[in-house]
Amino acid sequence: EHLEVANPLRTKAIMERYGLHAKKSLGQNFLTDLNVLKNIVSAAKITKQDNVIEIGPGIGALTEQLALAANQVVALELDDNLIRVLDEVLIGYSNVKIINQDVLKANLPQIVAEKFDDNSRPVKVVANLPYYITTPILMQLLSSTVKWDSIVVMMQKEVAQRLAAVPGTKAYGSLSLAVQYQMDTHVAFDVSRKVFIPSPNVDSAIVVLEPRQQELVVKPFDERSLFRLIKGCFSHRRKSLYNNLQAVFGKAPEIRAQINSVLTKINIDAQIRPEQLSLEQFIQLTNAFHTQKL
Ligand code: SAM
Repeated sequence: EHLEVANPLRTKAIMERYGLHAKKSLGQNFLTDLNVLKNIVSAAKITKQDNVIEIGPGIGALTEQLALAANQVVALELDDNLIRVLDEVLIGYSNVKIINQDVLKANLPQIVAEKFDDNSRPVKVVANLPYYITTPILMQLLSSTVKWDSIVVMMQKEVAQRLAAVPGTKAYGSLSLAVQYQMDTHVAFDVSRKVFIPSPNVDSAIVVLEPRQQELVVKPFDERSLFRLIKGCFSHRRKSLYNNLQAVFGKAPEIRAQINSVLTKINIDAQIRPEQLSLEQFIQLTNAFHTQKL
């Protein structure tokens, strides 16, 4: 009888057979709940049309469910010790390729171009991310030239909330803006720490990222300037926008005058907190300061 990897008994048996000890330093927490895995696969709307990149397959619990639902799965695992385990555990799935790679050093466009048999298919990312590098991995995915059909990833619940946060909330900040600049973002569901072996000391959530349906009305003249300004404006969250802008551009009287004139021109109250500003307003600000040559 076939038993899924995503099951506490089977997970323990695999770990024992191969003498595995979950490595904290690599964020190894293995999912053992088949329902949760199936819900991740449905949140990603995986069909037999799709090619999937998985990051950090571990002992293959999610990989197996992806293999059942997708056309092909390419999984990048950093831990050498897990490669043999994955090859054996997933031996029955001919549509899975395991690559022994650090995702942060991987050439994703090349992997997508070379490892999938049919490149005309949509490419989706699905992963239970190693939590210690959630943000670097997201930034790498978003700055890649690969046009992801969607990115559906599990991460620490608080980070998930920051990704999906709207203006005026505590969780809203530069990470929300960096992600939402490209993607429509929502939290699909929360996952209890109890369904992992070993159990992490935080709860998790699944985030769904899909390319923006509505294009931005105003584009920044330069993306790096936009994100530099955003970072600067959030360096003192509890101070006013005006104070943060002075910290970015300077406090000299002529600079203050320019800041005031920009804020008046684009109709933003100098005394609001940075977290009140929408992405569109940050873009307007960036462009207006550029016009002022600040
Ligand atoms: N997918 C499995 C599951 O859901 O049970 C394991 C998820 S576990 C949270 C994260 C996995 O990412 C581990 O297998 C870990 O070894 C792997 N990993 C950690 N850092 C990595 C990196 N830089 N590149 C690729 N994989 C990495």
